[in-house]
Amino acid sequence: MSRLSVVLPAYNEEQMVAKTCRVLGETLSKAGIFYELVLVDDGSGDRTWDEIVKAGREDENILGVHFSRNFGKESAIYAGLAQATGDVVAVMDCDLQHPPETLLKMYHLWEEGYEVVEGIKKDRGRESFLYREGAGFFYRIMSRITKIDMQNASDFKMMDRKVVDSILAMPERNMFFRATSSWVGFRSTSVEFEVREREAGQSKWSTWSLVRYAFTNIVAFTTVPLQFVTIIGFACFFCSLLLIIYSLVQFFGGRAVEGYTTTLIVLLLIGSAIMVSLGIIGYYISKIYEEVKRRPRYIVSKIVRGRSDDGQKANQDRY
Ligand code: UDP
Ligand code: MG
Repeated sequence: MSRLSVVLPAYNEEQMVAKTCRVLGETLSKAGIFYELVLVDDGSGDRTWDEIVKAGREDENILGVHFSRNFGKESAIYAGLAQATGDVVAVMDCDLQHPPETLLKMYHLWEEGYEVVEGIKKDRGRESFLYREGAGFFYRIMSRITKIDMQNASDFKMMDRKVVDSILAMPERNMFFRATSSWVGFRSTSVEFEVREREAGQSKWSTWSLVRYAFTNIVAFTTVPLQFVTIIGFACFFCSLLLIIYSLVQFFGGRAVEGYTTTLIVLLLIGSAIMVSLGIIGYYISKIYEEVKRRPRYIVSKIVRGRSDDGQKANQDRY
Protein backbone atom coordinates (compact mmCIF):
# COMPACT_ATOMS: atom_id res chain seq x y z
CA MET A 1 0.00 0.00 0.00
CA SER A 2 1.44 3.33 -0.95
CA ARG A 3 1.82 6.28 1.34
CA LEU A 4 1.29 9.96 0.74
CA SER A 5 3.48 12.60 2.37
CA VAL A 6 2.09 16.11 2.57
CA VAL A 7 4.69 18.84 3.01
CA LEU A 8 3.36 21.94 4.76
CA PRO A 9 5.65 24.94 5.15
CA ALA A 10 4.47 27.00 8.11
CA TYR A 11 5.63 30.46 9.09
CA ASN A 12 3.73 32.11 11.94
CA GLU A 13 0.71 29.88 11.44
CA GLU A 14 -0.17 29.20 15.10
CA GLN A 15 -3.83 29.73 14.36
CA MET A 16 -3.90 27.34 11.43
CA VAL A 17 -1.66 24.36 12.34
CA ALA A 18 -4.14 22.44 14.49
CA LYS A 19 -7.03 22.97 12.11
CA THR A 20 -5.02 22.12 9.00
CA CYS A 21 -3.72 18.90 10.57
CA ARG A 22 -7.20 17.89 11.67
CA VAL A 23 -8.86 18.62 8.34
CA LEU A 24 -6.13 16.89 6.32
CA GLY A 25 -6.03 13.91 8.67
CA GLU A 26 -9.79 13.46 8.48
CA THR A 27 -9.97 13.94 4.72
CA LEU A 28 -7.15 11.50 3.98
CA SER A 29 -8.16 8.78 6.41
CA LYS A 30 -11.74 8.95 5.22
CA ALA A 31 -10.43 8.37 1.69
CA GLY A 32 -8.44 5.39 2.95
CA ILE A 33 -5.06 6.92 2.12
CA PHE A 34 -2.02 6.21 4.31
CA TYR A 35 -0.47 9.56 4.96
CA GLU A 36 2.23 11.51 6.71
CA LEU A 37 2.12 15.26 7.36
CA VAL A 38 5.51 16.94 7.28
CA LEU A 39 5.19 20.35 8.92
CA VAL A 40 8.18 22.58 8.50
CA ASP A 41 8.28 25.46 10.96
CA ASP A 42 10.21 28.10 9.04
CA GLY A 43 11.58 29.83 12.13
CA SER A 44 8.25 31.22 13.29
CA GLY A 45 8.21 33.87 15.98
CA ASP A 46 4.90 32.72 17.44
CA ARG A 47 3.65 29.46 18.94
CA THR A 48 3.65 27.51 15.66
CA TRP A 49 6.20 24.95 16.90
CA ASP A 50 4.25 24.26 20.11
CA GLU A 51 1.16 23.73 17.98
CA ILE A 52 3.03 21.28 15.76
CA VAL A 53 4.30 19.32 18.78
CA LYS A 54 0.78 19.31 20.21
CA ALA A 55 -0.69 18.09 16.93
CA GLY A 56 1.98 15.36 16.88
CA ARG A 57 0.76 14.07 20.22
CA GLU A 58 -2.67 13.52 18.76
CA ASP A 59 -1.67 12.15 15.38
CA GLU A 60 1.27 9.81 15.01
CA ASN A 61 1.44 10.57 11.30
CA ILE A 62 2.83 14.02 11.91
CA LEU A 63 6.47 14.88 11.48
CA GLY A 64 7.61 18.33 12.59
CA VAL A 65 10.81 20.00 11.43
CA HIS A 66 11.99 23.19 13.11
CA PHE A 67 14.36 25.62 11.39
CA SER A 68 16.91 27.55 13.38
CA ARG A 69 15.60 30.77 11.79
CA ASN A 70 13.40 31.90 8.91
CA PHE A 71 14.89 30.59 5.67
CA GLY A 72 11.90 31.29 3.41
CA LYS A 73 9.23 29.15 1.86
CA GLU A 74 11.41 27.61 -0.86
CA SER A 75 13.83 26.25 1.75
CA ALA A 76 10.96 25.01 3.88
CA ILE A 77 9.53 23.13 0.91
CA TYR A 78 12.94 21.64 0.17
CA ALA A 79 13.40 20.53 3.78
CA GLY A 80 9.97 18.95 3.73
CA LEU A 81 10.77 17.06 0.54
CA ALA A 82 14.02 15.84 2.09
CA GLN A 83 12.22 14.52 5.18
CA ALA A 84 9.21 13.03 3.41
CA THR A 85 9.24 9.25 3.14
CA GLY A 86 6.08 8.61 1.12
CA ASP A 87 5.85 7.05 -2.33
CA VAL A 88 4.17 10.22 -3.45
CA VAL A 89 4.66 13.68 -1.99
CA ALA A 90 2.34 16.68 -2.06
CA VAL A 91 3.25 20.26 -1.21
CA MET A 92 0.57 22.63 0.00
CA ASP A 93 0.17 25.80 2.04
CA CYS A 94 -0.51 25.49 5.71
CA ASP A 95 -3.37 28.00 5.64
CA LEU A 96 -5.92 25.73 3.89
CA GLN A 97 -6.05 28.07 0.90
CA HIS A 98 -5.29 24.98 -1.12
CA PRO A 99 -8.42 22.82 -0.79
CA PRO A 100 -7.90 19.29 0.66
CA GLU A 101 -10.45 17.88 -1.81
CA THR A 102 -8.12 18.82 -4.64
CA LEU A 103 -5.45 16.79 -2.87
CA LEU A 104 -7.64 13.69 -3.29
CA LYS A 105 -8.12 14.51 -6.97
CA MET A 106 -4.35 14.78 -7.36
CA TYR A 107 -3.84 11.48 -5.57
CA HIS A 108 -6.21 9.69 -7.94
CA LEU A 109 -4.39 11.18 -10.94
CA TRP A 110 -1.13 9.91 -9.48
CA GLU A 111 -2.69 6.46 -9.13
CA GLU A 112 -3.57 6.65 -12.81
CA GLY A 113 0.12 7.00 -13.55
CA TYR A 114 0.88 10.71 -13.65
CA GLU A 115 4.17 11.55 -11.99
CA VAL A 116 3.67 15.28 -11.52
CA VAL A 117 0.27 16.79 -10.79
CA GLU A 118 0.30 20.58 -10.79
CA GLY A 119 -2.30 22.68 -9.04
CA ILE A 120 -3.46 25.53 -11.26
CA LYS A 121 -5.33 28.45 -9.76
CA LYS A 122 -8.76 28.82 -11.33
CA ASP A 123 -9.01 32.33 -10.00
CA ARG A 124 -6.54 34.08 -7.81
CA GLY A 125 -8.75 34.53 -4.78
CA ARG A 126 -9.23 37.98 -3.36
CA GLU A 127 -6.19 40.08 -4.07
CA SER A 128 -5.63 43.77 -4.37
CA PHE A 129 -5.43 45.29 -7.85
CA LEU A 130 -1.74 46.08 -7.48
CA TYR A 131 -0.91 42.58 -6.26
CA ARG A 132 -2.82 40.94 -9.09
CA GLU A 133 -1.25 43.13 -11.76
CA GLY A 134 2.20 42.72 -10.24
CA ALA A 135 1.92 38.97 -10.05
CA GLY A 136 0.47 38.89 -13.58
CA PHE A 137 3.42 40.90 -14.90
CA PHE A 138 5.94 38.66 -13.16
CA TYR A 139 4.37 35.47 -14.45
CA ARG A 140 4.08 36.81 -17.98
CA ILE A 141 7.81 37.51 -17.95
CA MET A 142 8.60 34.17 -16.33
CA SER A 143 6.41 32.24 -18.78
CA ARG A 144 8.09 34.00 -21.71
CA ILE A 145 11.60 33.46 -20.45
CA THR A 146 11.28 29.94 -19.12
CA LYS A 147 8.87 28.70 -21.79
CA ILE A 148 6.85 27.19 -18.98
CA ASP A 149 3.32 28.50 -18.60
CA MET A 150 3.17 29.83 -15.10
CA GLN A 151 0.37 32.34 -15.38
CA ASN A 152 -1.71 30.52 -12.78
CA ALA A 153 0.91 28.22 -11.33
CA SER A 154 1.10 27.61 -7.61
CA ASP A 155 3.22 25.68 -5.15
CA PHE A 156 0.35 23.20 -4.73
CA LYS A 157 1.67 20.03 -6.36
CA MET A 158 1.90 16.30 -6.06
CA MET A 159 4.98 14.43 -7.17
CA ASP A 160 6.03 10.84 -7.47
CA ARG A 161 9.03 9.64 -5.43
CA LYS A 162 11.16 9.62 -8.61
CA VAL A 163 10.43 13.30 -9.21
CA VAL A 164 11.16 14.24 -5.59
CA ASP A 165 14.47 12.41 -5.71
CA SER A 166 15.50 14.17 -8.90
CA ILE A 167 14.63 17.57 -7.39
CA LEU A 168 16.56 16.73 -4.22
CA ALA A 169 19.55 15.74 -6.35
CA MET A 170 19.87 19.24 -7.83
CA PRO A 171 22.89 21.00 -6.46
CA GLU A 172 21.81 24.63 -6.65
CA ARG A 173 20.94 26.56 -3.52
CA ASN A 174 18.62 29.10 -5.06
CA MET A 175 15.73 27.02 -6.22
CA PHE A 176 12.43 28.16 -7.64
CA PHE A 177 10.25 25.19 -6.77
CA ARG A 178 7.31 26.18 -8.93
CA ALA A 179 9.36 26.15 -12.11
CA THR A 180 11.79 23.40 -11.16
CA SER A 181 9.01 20.88 -10.73
CA SER A 182 8.05 21.36 -14.38
CA TRP A 183 11.66 21.66 -15.52
CA VAL A 184 12.46 18.10 -14.38
CA GLY A 185 9.93 16.80 -16.88
CA PHE A 186 8.16 13.45 -16.23
CA ARG A 187 4.60 12.59 -17.11
CA SER A 188 2.58 15.48 -15.81
CA THR A 189 -0.92 16.81 -15.73
CA SER A 190 -2.73 19.56 -13.88
CA VAL A 191 -5.86 20.14 -11.87
CA GLU A 192 -7.61 23.43 -11.35
CA PHE A 193 -8.51 24.56 -7.88
CA GLU A 194 -10.17 27.56 -6.37
CA VAL A 195 -8.05 29.55 -3.97
CA ARG A 196 -9.87 29.75 -0.66
CA GLU A 197 -9.88 32.70 1.64
CA ARG A 198 -7.27 32.56 4.37
CA GLU A 199 -9.18 31.80 7.58
CA ALA A 200 -6.80 33.17 10.15
CA GLY A 201 -3.51 34.95 10.35
CA GLN A 202 -2.28 36.96 7.39
CA SER A 203 -0.34 36.64 4.18
CA LYS A 204 3.41 36.74 4.75
CA TRP A 205 4.09 38.71 1.60
CA SER A 206 4.69 42.42 1.50
CA THR A 207 4.91 44.21 -1.83
CA TRP A 208 8.65 44.63 -1.42
CA SER A 209 9.21 40.96 -0.55
CA LEU A 210 7.25 40.01 -3.67
CA VAL A 211 9.40 42.21 -5.89
CA ARG A 212 12.51 40.65 -4.34
CA TYR A 213 11.04 37.20 -4.80
CA ALA A 214 10.38 37.92 -8.47
CA PHE A 215 13.94 39.09 -9.13
CA THR A 216 15.55 36.25 -7.20
CA ASN A 217 13.55 33.67 -9.08
CA ILE A 218 14.14 35.14 -12.51
CA VAL A 219 17.86 35.12 -11.79
CA ALA A 220 17.70 31.66 -10.25
CA PHE A 221 16.09 30.26 -13.33
CA THR A 222 17.37 32.04 -16.40
CA THR A 223 20.17 34.18 -17.81
CA VAL A 224 17.96 36.00 -20.31
CA PRO A 225 18.38 39.37 -18.49
CA LEU A 226 22.09 39.15 -19.27
CA GLN A 227 21.18 39.04 -22.94
CA PHE A 228 19.22 42.26 -22.46
CA VAL A 229 22.57 43.84 -21.71
CA THR A 230 23.81 42.87 -25.15
CA ILE A 231 20.61 44.14 -26.75
CA ILE A 232 20.89 47.49 -24.96
CA GLY A 233 24.51 47.67 -26.10
CA PHE A 234 23.56 47.13 -29.72
CA ALA A 235 20.73 49.66 -29.49
CA CYS A 236 23.15 52.27 -28.09
CA PHE A 237 25.66 51.49 -30.81
CA PHE A 238 23.05 51.90 -33.53
CA CYS A 239 21.85 55.22 -32.13
CA SER A 240 25.37 56.57 -31.85
CA LEU A 241 26.07 55.52 -35.43
CA LEU A 242 23.12 57.62 -36.61
CA LEU A 243 24.33 60.51 -34.51
CA ILE A 244 27.87 60.26 -35.85
CA ILE A 245 26.61 60.39 -39.44
CA TYR A 246 24.37 63.34 -38.60
CA SER A 247 27.22 65.25 -36.93
CA LEU A 248 29.62 64.57 -39.79
CA VAL A 249 27.09 65.77 -42.36
CA GLN A 250 26.57 68.92 -40.30
CA PHE A 251 30.32 69.43 -39.94
CA PHE A 252 31.13 69.08 -43.63
CA GLY A 253 28.11 71.18 -44.52
CA GLY A 254 29.96 73.98 -42.79
CA ARG A 255 27.48 74.26 -39.96
CA ALA A 256 29.26 74.15 -36.66
CA VAL A 257 27.82 71.55 -34.28
CA GLU A 258 26.10 73.41 -31.51
CA GLY A 259 25.18 70.16 -29.94
CA TYR A 260 25.34 70.70 -26.20
CA THR A 261 21.90 69.14 -25.67
CA THR A 262 22.66 66.23 -27.96
CA THR A 263 25.93 65.54 -26.21
CA LEU A 264 24.25 65.62 -22.86
CA ILE A 265 21.46 63.28 -23.94
CA VAL A 266 23.85 60.80 -25.50
CA LEU A 267 26.05 60.83 -22.43
CA LEU A 268 23.13 60.27 -20.09
CA LEU A 269 21.66 57.52 -22.26
CA ILE A 270 24.87 55.57 -22.54
CA GLY A 271 25.68 56.17 -18.88
CA SER A 272 22.36 54.81 -17.70
CA ALA A 273 22.55 51.84 -20.06
CA ILE A 274 25.93 50.95 -18.59
CA MET A 275 24.68 51.36 -15.03
CA VAL A 276 21.64 49.15 -15.61
CA SER A 277 23.79 46.54 -17.32
CA LEU A 278 26.31 46.55 -14.51
CA GLY A 279 23.46 46.20 -12.05
CA ILE A 280 22.10 43.13 -13.83
CA ILE A 281 25.54 41.57 -14.10
CA GLY A 282 26.25 42.42 -10.46
CA TYR A 283 23.07 40.69 -9.39
CA TYR A 284 24.09 37.53 -11.18
CA ILE A 285 27.55 37.71 -9.67
CA SER A 286 26.06 38.04 -6.20
CA LYS A 287 23.97 34.95 -6.85
CA ILE A 288 27.02 33.06 -8.14
CA TYR A 289 28.83 34.14 -4.99
CA GLU A 290 26.00 32.79 -2.86
CA GLU A 291 26.08 29.49 -4.74
CA VAL A 292 29.84 28.97 -4.51
CA LYS A 293 29.78 29.53 -0.77
CA ARG A 294 27.91 26.22 -0.59
CA ARG A 295 26.06 27.22 2.52
CA PRO A 296 23.30 24.80 3.53
CA ARG A 297 19.85 25.71 2.27
CA TYR A 298 18.52 25.59 5.80
CA ILE A 299 19.49 24.48 9.28
CA VAL A 300 17.26 22.18 11.27
CA SER A 301 17.25 22.75 15.01
CA LYS A 302 14.62 20.22 16.09
CA ILE A 303 12.64 17.33 14.68
CA VAL A 304 9.59 15.81 16.30
CA ARG A 305 7.80 12.65 15.31
CA GLY A 306 4.13 12.17 16.12
CA ARG A 307 3.30 10.62 19.50
CA SER A 308 6.81 11.08 20.88
CA ASP A 309 6.64 13.40 23.87
CA ASP A 310 9.67 15.53 23.37
CA GLY A 311 11.10 16.57 20.07
CA GLN A 312 14.33 14.71 19.62
CA LYS A 313 17.08 17.22 19.08
CA ALA A 314 18.71 16.98 15.73
CA ASN A 315 21.53 19.25 14.82
CA GLN A 316 21.98 17.96 11.39
CA ASP A 317 22.57 20.38 8.56
CA ARG A 318 20.76 19.30 5.47
CA TYR A 319 22.13 20.09 2.06
N1 UDP B 1 5.65 30.52 4.40
C1 UDP B 1 6.88 30.00 4.84
N2 UDP B 1 7.95 30.84 4.99
C2 UDP B 1 7.88 32.17 4.71
C3 UDP B 1 6.65 32.69 4.25
C4 UDP B 1 5.56 31.84 4.10
O1 UDP B 1 6.98 28.79 5.10
O2 UDP B 1 8.89 32.86 4.88
C5 UDP B 1 4.48 29.62 4.24
C6 UDP B 1 3.21 30.06 4.97
O3 UDP B 1 3.21 29.61 6.30
C7 UDP B 1 2.13 29.38 4.15
C8 UDP B 1 2.69 29.43 2.74
O4 UDP B 1 4.11 29.60 2.89
O5 UDP B 1 1.91 28.03 4.52
C9 UDP B 1 2.09 30.52 1.90
O6 UDP B 1 2.24 31.75 2.54
P1 UDP B 1 1.10 32.86 2.55
O7 UDP B 1 -0.22 32.25 2.85
O8 UDP B 1 1.56 33.95 3.44
O9 UDP B 1 1.15 33.35 1.03
P2 UDP B 1 -0.10 33.67 0.09
O10 UDP B 1 -1.09 32.56 0.25
O11 UDP B 1 -0.63 34.97 0.56
O12 UDP B 1 0.51 33.72 -1.27
MG1 MG C 1 -1.84 31.77 1.83
